[in-house]
Amino acid sequence: MPGTSHNEFGPSRQIVSHHPDLTAYRGPGDVPTTALRVGWISADHPFPTGDVPTGLVPALLRLVRDHPVNRVRSWEPCSICEDPPYPIVMELDGSKLHLGDAEIRVRGEDGIEYAAPSLIAHYVAEHRYLPPAQFIDAVRA
Ligand SMILES: [Zn+2]
Repeated sequence: MPGTSHNEFGPSRQIVSHHPDLTAYRGPGDVPTTALRVGWISADHPFPTGDVPTGLVPALLRLVRDHPVNRVRSWEPCSICEDPPYPIVMELDGSKLHLGDAEIRVRGEDGIEYAAPSLIAHYVAEHRYLPPAQFIDAVRA
């Protein structure tokens, strides 16, 4: 709908908490960790966009399917879609994957661990979100 802005959904709409990339990740219960955040984006803050290497999205989806962490019992909606499907579903190897109820971890060559929401696969595929280069390298390693 022309002229519709995300803010018109009002405070009742669930918004993914926004955290800049590569800031310290705090786990459930606000527990400090050594991991860095990647992909905790939302509609109300600008985020980097651009082209990503072929294969990044399937690699992210494989992590979501095979190594989900901090799984919860509800799905986080996408705050960036105008009219988001709920829950967000993507396909991997012919199977449907639900996104928004878990996180993934990726460890880089330098030993740094990255913590991302499973919705990062949707953000990259649908909203051209461009994660930090070191994260992309770590996912593809
Ligand atoms: Zn979306």
